[in-house]
Amino acid sequence: CGIVGYVGTAQLGTDVVLEGLRRLEYRGYDSAGIAVVTPDGVDTRKKAGKLANLVEVLDADPLPQAATAIGHTRWATHGGPTDANAHPHVGVGGELAVIHNGIVENFATLRAELLAAGVEFASETDTEVVAHLLARAYAGDLTEAMRAVCLRLEGAFTLLAVHADAPDTIVGARRNSPLVVGLGEGANYLGSDVAAFIASTREALELGQDQIVTITPTSVAVIGFDGAPVEGRRFHVDWDA
Ligand code: GLU
Repeated sequence: CGIVGYVGTAQLGTDVVLEGLRRLEYRGYDSAGIAVVTPDGVDTRKKAGKLANLVEVLDADPLPQAATAIGHTRWATHGGPTDANAHPHVGVGGELAVIHNGIVENFATLRAELLAAGVEFASETDTEVVAHLLARAYAGDLTEAMRAVCLRLEGAFTLLAVHADAPDTIVGARRNSPLVVGLGEGANYLGSDVAAFIASTREALELGQDQIVTITPTSVAVIGFDGAPVEGRRFHVDWDA
Protein backbone atom coordinates (compact mmCIF):
# COMPACT_ATOMS: atom_id res chain seq x y z
CA CYS A 1 0.00 0.00 0.00
CA GLY A 2 2.54 2.66 1.12
CA ILE A 3 6.27 2.47 0.42
CA VAL A 4 9.19 4.59 1.67
CA GLY A 5 12.95 4.21 1.21
CA TYR A 6 15.84 6.35 2.49
CA VAL A 7 19.60 6.21 1.87
CA GLY A 8 21.66 8.99 3.40
CA THR A 9 24.96 9.95 4.91
CA ALA A 10 23.24 10.57 8.28
CA GLN A 11 22.25 7.66 10.55
CA LEU A 12 18.60 8.70 10.41
CA GLY A 13 17.00 5.78 8.58
CA THR A 14 14.26 4.80 11.03
CA ASP A 15 13.16 8.37 11.78
CA VAL A 16 13.00 9.44 8.14
CA VAL A 17 11.09 6.34 7.09
CA LEU A 18 8.61 6.60 9.99
CA GLU A 19 7.91 10.21 9.00
CA GLY A 20 7.31 9.07 5.41
CA LEU A 21 4.95 6.32 6.56
CA ARG A 22 2.97 8.87 8.62
CA ARG A 23 2.51 10.97 5.49
CA LEU A 24 1.21 7.91 3.61
CA GLU A 25 -1.32 6.97 6.33
CA TYR A 26 -4.10 8.72 4.38
CA ARG A 27 -4.09 5.76 1.96
CA GLY A 28 -5.32 3.35 4.65
CA TYR A 29 -3.47 0.21 5.78
CA ASP A 30 -3.69 -2.71 8.22
CA SER A 31 -0.02 -3.29 9.26
CA ALA A 32 3.35 -1.58 9.11
CA GLY A 33 7.04 -2.43 9.21
CA ILE A 34 10.59 -1.16 8.74
CA ALA A 35 13.91 -2.74 7.77
CA VAL A 36 17.31 -1.12 8.28
CA VAL A 37 20.67 -2.13 6.87
CA THR A 38 23.95 -1.70 8.71
CA PRO A 39 27.36 -3.22 8.00
CA ASP A 40 26.26 -5.90 10.54
CA GLY A 41 23.23 -6.97 8.50
CA VAL A 42 19.52 -6.48 7.91
CA ASP A 43 17.16 -5.94 10.84
CA THR A 44 13.35 -5.65 10.74
CA ARG A 45 10.46 -4.68 13.04
CA LYS A 46 6.84 -5.11 11.96
CA LYS A 47 3.40 -5.10 13.53
CA ALA A 48 -0.25 -5.48 12.60
CA GLY A 49 -2.45 -2.45 13.19
CA LYS A 50 -1.69 1.25 13.25
CA LEU A 51 1.73 2.89 13.04
CA ALA A 52 1.42 3.59 16.77
CA ASN A 53 1.68 -0.20 17.32
CA LEU A 54 4.91 -0.31 15.31
CA VAL A 55 6.25 2.67 17.27
CA GLU A 56 5.55 0.77 20.52
CA VAL A 57 7.58 -2.17 19.20
CA LEU A 58 10.40 0.19 18.18
CA ASP A 59 10.38 1.87 21.60
CA ALA A 60 10.62 -1.49 23.39
CA ASP A 61 13.17 -2.95 20.96
CA PRO A 62 14.86 -0.17 18.95
CA LEU A 63 16.39 -0.80 15.55
CA PRO A 64 20.12 -0.11 15.27
CA GLN A 65 21.01 3.31 13.90
CA ALA A 66 21.31 3.04 10.14
CA ALA A 67 21.83 5.24 7.12
CA THR A 68 19.57 3.03 5.00
CA ALA A 69 15.97 2.05 5.72
CA ILE A 70 12.80 0.91 3.97
CA GLY A 71 9.27 1.05 5.35
CA HIS A 72 5.85 -0.26 4.38
CA THR A 73 2.21 0.14 5.27
CA ARG A 74 0.32 -2.96 4.14
CA TRP A 75 -3.16 -3.43 2.75
CA ALA A 76 -3.47 -7.22 2.86
CA THR A 77 -4.35 -9.08 -0.33
CA HIS A 78 -2.70 -12.49 0.30
CA GLY A 79 -2.78 -13.62 3.92
CA GLY A 80 -4.58 -11.85 6.77
CA PRO A 81 -3.38 -8.73 8.59
CA THR A 82 -1.02 -10.46 11.06
CA ASP A 83 2.44 -9.57 12.39
CA ALA A 84 3.97 -12.41 10.35
CA ASN A 85 2.33 -11.23 7.11
CA ALA A 86 3.38 -7.60 7.62
CA HIS A 87 6.28 -6.43 5.46
CA PRO A 88 9.33 -6.38 5.25
CA HIS A 89 9.86 -10.03 4.32
CA VAL A 90 13.32 -11.54 4.66
CA GLY A 91 14.81 -13.95 2.12
CA VAL A 92 16.44 -17.30 2.86
CA GLY A 93 19.74 -16.69 4.65
CA GLY A 94 18.40 -13.55 6.35
CA GLU A 95 20.60 -11.14 4.41
CA LEU A 96 17.98 -9.27 2.42
CA ALA A 97 14.61 -7.66 3.07
CA VAL A 98 11.80 -6.76 0.65
CA ILE A 99 8.67 -4.61 0.73
CA HIS A 100 5.96 -4.77 -1.92
CA ASN A 101 2.85 -2.99 -3.11
CA GLY A 102 0.48 -4.84 -5.42
CA ILE A 103 -0.13 -8.48 -6.27
CA VAL A 104 2.19 -11.13 -7.72
CA GLU A 105 -0.39 -13.01 -9.82
CA ASN A 106 1.74 -16.11 -10.40
CA PHE A 107 2.84 -16.43 -6.77
CA ALA A 108 1.28 -19.90 -6.29
CA THR A 109 3.48 -21.38 -9.03
CA LEU A 110 6.57 -19.64 -7.67
CA ARG A 111 5.77 -20.68 -4.09
CA ALA A 112 5.37 -24.33 -5.15
CA GLU A 113 8.73 -24.18 -6.90
CA LEU A 114 10.41 -22.73 -3.79
CA LEU A 115 8.73 -25.25 -1.46
CA ALA A 116 9.96 -28.06 -3.72
CA ALA A 117 13.47 -26.63 -3.36
CA GLY A 118 13.15 -26.84 0.45
CA VAL A 119 12.50 -23.16 1.21
CA GLU A 120 10.56 -22.55 4.42
CA PHE A 121 7.98 -19.77 4.46
CA ALA A 122 7.32 -17.48 7.42
CA SER A 123 4.15 -15.87 6.00
CA GLU A 124 1.19 -16.44 3.69
CA THR A 125 1.97 -13.47 1.46
CA ASP A 126 2.66 -13.34 -2.26
CA THR A 127 5.50 -10.95 -1.33
CA GLU A 128 7.58 -13.55 0.49
CA VAL A 129 8.17 -15.48 -2.76
CA VAL A 130 9.95 -12.37 -4.06
CA ALA A 131 12.24 -12.27 -1.00
CA HIS A 132 13.26 -15.91 -1.48
CA LEU A 133 13.62 -15.64 -5.25
CA LEU A 134 15.87 -12.60 -4.77
CA ALA A 135 18.01 -14.35 -2.16
CA ARG A 136 18.46 -17.32 -4.48
CA ALA A 137 19.16 -15.17 -7.57
CA TYR A 138 21.64 -12.96 -5.70
CA ALA A 139 25.24 -13.43 -6.79
CA GLY A 140 26.80 -10.20 -5.49
CA ASP A 141 24.71 -7.66 -7.46
CA LEU A 142 21.27 -6.83 -6.00
CA THR A 143 20.21 -4.81 -9.08
CA GLU A 144 20.94 -7.75 -11.35
CA ALA A 145 19.11 -10.14 -9.00
CA MET A 146 16.09 -7.80 -9.00
CA ARG A 147 16.11 -7.72 -12.80
CA ALA A 148 16.23 -11.52 -13.06
CA VAL A 149 13.38 -11.90 -10.54
CA CYS A 150 11.16 -9.19 -12.10
CA LEU A 151 11.30 -11.06 -15.41
CA ARG A 152 9.63 -14.00 -13.62
CA LEU A 153 6.84 -12.00 -11.92
CA GLU A 154 3.35 -11.43 -13.31
CA GLY A 155 0.92 -8.85 -12.03
CA ALA A 156 1.38 -5.45 -10.43
CA PHE A 157 4.24 -4.56 -8.17
CA THR A 158 6.35 -1.87 -6.64
CA LEU A 159 9.28 -3.53 -4.88
CA LEU A 160 12.11 -2.23 -2.71
CA ALA A 161 14.96 -4.47 -1.60
CA VAL A 162 18.03 -4.06 0.61
CA HIS A 163 20.93 -6.43 1.15
CA ALA A 164 23.46 -6.67 4.00
CA ASP A 165 26.33 -6.66 1.46
CA ALA A 166 25.41 -3.13 0.31
CA PRO A 167 24.43 -1.09 3.39
CA ASP A 168 24.26 2.16 1.37
CA THR A 169 21.98 0.92 -1.42
CA ILE A 170 18.27 0.38 -2.10
CA VAL A 171 17.04 -1.27 -5.28
CA GLY A 172 13.47 -0.53 -6.43
CA ALA A 173 11.37 -1.90 -9.29
CA ARG A 174 7.95 -1.24 -10.72
CA ARG A 175 5.32 -2.65 -13.06
CA ASN A 176 1.70 -1.43 -13.12
CA SER A 177 2.24 0.25 -9.74
CA PRO A 178 3.90 3.62 -9.00
CA LEU A 179 7.42 4.39 -7.74
CA VAL A 180 8.96 7.84 -7.46
CA VAL A 181 12.54 8.84 -6.58
CA GLY A 182 13.21 11.84 -4.31
CA LEU A 183 16.53 13.59 -4.99
CA GLY A 184 18.18 15.07 -1.90
CA GLU A 185 21.55 16.48 -0.81
CA GLY A 186 23.65 13.59 0.46
CA ALA A 187 20.48 11.49 0.54
CA ASN A 188 18.03 9.93 -1.89
CA TYR A 189 14.50 8.64 -1.34
CA LEU A 190 11.96 6.26 -2.83
CA GLY A 191 8.20 6.47 -2.43
CA SER A 192 4.97 5.00 -3.69
CA ASP A 193 4.02 8.66 -4.04
CA VAL A 194 5.78 11.97 -3.40
CA ALA A 195 4.13 12.34 0.03
CA ALA A 196 6.67 9.74 1.21
CA PHE A 197 9.56 12.23 0.95
CA ILE A 198 7.94 15.65 0.60
CA ALA A 199 9.18 16.64 4.08
CA SER A 200 12.78 16.23 2.81
CA THR A 201 12.91 17.14 -0.88
CA ARG A 202 10.74 18.39 -3.72
CA GLU A 203 13.05 17.34 -6.53
CA ALA A 204 11.86 14.05 -7.97
CA LEU A 205 12.29 11.53 -10.73
CA GLU A 206 9.40 9.52 -12.13
CA LEU A 207 10.07 5.92 -13.13
CA GLY A 208 8.50 4.44 -16.25
CA GLN A 209 6.88 1.05 -16.68
CA ASP A 210 9.10 -2.02 -16.15
CA GLN A 211 12.06 -0.13 -14.71
CA ILE A 212 14.56 -0.73 -11.92
CA VAL A 213 16.27 2.00 -9.91
CA THR A 214 19.36 1.69 -7.71
CA ILE A 215 19.96 4.51 -5.23
CA THR A 216 22.84 5.37 -2.90
CA PRO A 217 23.25 8.65 -0.95
CA THR A 218 24.97 10.19 -3.98
CA SER A 219 23.70 8.31 -7.04
CA VAL A 220 20.54 7.26 -8.86
CA ALA A 221 20.70 4.79 -11.76
CA VAL A 222 17.72 3.53 -13.76
CA ILE A 223 17.55 0.56 -16.13
CA GLY A 224 14.76 -1.24 -17.94
CA PHE A 225 13.86 -4.86 -17.22
CA ASP A 226 15.94 -5.56 -20.38
CA GLY A 227 19.04 -4.16 -18.59
CA ALA A 228 19.44 -1.08 -20.82
CA PRO A 229 20.05 2.27 -19.02
CA VAL A 230 17.16 4.75 -19.22
CA GLU A 231 16.62 8.37 -18.14
CA GLY A 232 13.86 8.97 -15.59
CA ARG A 233 11.67 12.07 -16.03
CA ARG A 234 12.69 14.81 -13.55
CA PHE A 235 10.06 17.04 -12.03
CA HIS A 236 9.56 19.52 -9.20
CA VAL A 237 6.81 18.84 -6.65
CA ASP A 238 5.07 22.19 -6.20
CA TRP A 239 1.96 21.30 -4.20
CA ASP A 240 1.74 22.05 -0.49
CA ALA A 241 2.28 19.16 1.89
N1 GLU B 1 0.07 -8.41 -1.81
C1 GLU B 1 0.87 -7.96 -0.76
C2 GLU B 1 0.38 -8.50 0.58
O1 GLU B 1 -0.73 -8.91 0.70
C3 GLU B 1 1.05 -6.43 -0.71
C4 GLU B 1 -0.24 -5.70 -0.37
C5 GLU B 1 -0.06 -4.16 -0.40
O2 GLU B 1 -0.06 -3.58 -1.52
O3 GLU B 1 0.04 -3.55 0.66
O4 GLU B 1 1.11 -8.55 1.51
